[in-house]
Amino acid sequence: MLVFLQKSYSHPFAFLRFFAAIHSVAVYRLWSLSEIKMSESNQPIALVTGGSRGIGKAIALALANLGVSVAVNYRERAEEAASVVEAIHRNGGRAVASAADVSVASSVQSMIATIEAQLGSIDILVNNAGIAITRGLDDITEDDFDRTIAVNLKSAFLCTQAVLPHMRARRWGRVINISSIGARIGARSISVAYGAAKAGIEGLTRAYALRLAPDGVTVNAVAPGLIDTEMGKPLIDAGIAAHIPVGRVGTGDDIAQTVLLLVQNGFITGQTLAVNGGSLFS
Ligand code: NDP
Repeated sequence: MLVFLQKSYSHPFAFLRFFAAIHSVAVYRLWSLSEIKMSESNQPIALVTGGSRGIGKAIALALANLGVSVAVNYRERAEEAASVVEAIHRNGGRAVASAADVSVASSVQSMIATIEAQLGSIDILVNNAGIAITRGLDDITEDDFDRTIAVNLKSAFLCTQAVLPHMRARRWGRVINISSIGARIGARSISVAYGAAKAGIEGLTRAYALRLAPDGVTVNAVAPGLIDTEMGKPLIDAGIAAHIPVGRVGTGDDIAQTVLLLVQNGFITGQTLAVNGGSLFS
């Protein structure tokens, strides 16, 4: 832990920020922060895909609060990504905005190369980017299916493959994939493609976890229930919240805190953690 503190906090207030972060959630004190190892640039470095808004934004901010340097990926909304980066800078952290369509291999490769030049090699990958194209059984097209699988599932494969050489060489890494309750309950309100993509990401999680455990790289998934974001809004408007046992929809921070747990615990791998307010017991 001392090595972590000495090496990672060059900003004068960062040391205080670190303690503020761990004391604001008491359970952090129980976790071994020595699990977090350094990149060449002294701070752990994370890439959060789809970090410009919604759940990804909450994850990017929470990681930065912990002293992690963050690459905030986005596809279109440059201004929203820039505002996440500015918020991290204002708080004394390190962050860059990284444009790329993560469903396209060449875009992923050039994004990773740019991040490595700007921040250093990636120690923590959060595959969060996703789309929900709402289509019924009769109107879903091949295009809808392909796009849904490409953005929600193939992107995780492309990003993971791109960061693995560094993680394996350092014998430390964290990959966290954002799944969905829809993987288990069929995603009736979105599409069969979305349900298939999210079930796929949970299988991909286990397949990578098995192969990477000996290299010190853990791979896990988080399966949110209904979360208050732009993607969740149509379901919230439809009154789904009334059926959530804890009596509220989730927040991005509910998911971000689970991601922090997985970053800091090296003995959990191959798991999917359900964060859904009791909507489904798994
Ligand atoms: P939002 O629609 O609010 O945000 C989606 C994010 O993904 C944006 O940052 C967007 O970038 C980015 N994105 C979309 N397509 C691409 C792409 N091709 N390349 C790069 N970035 C892309 O979604 P949420 O925050 O709600 O969802 C985040 C994750 O959580 C998704 O995987 C979703 O499936 C999952 N989830 C969400 C639930 C919910 O209720 N909200 C429930 C269960 C799972 P840009 O801003 O540039 O468009």
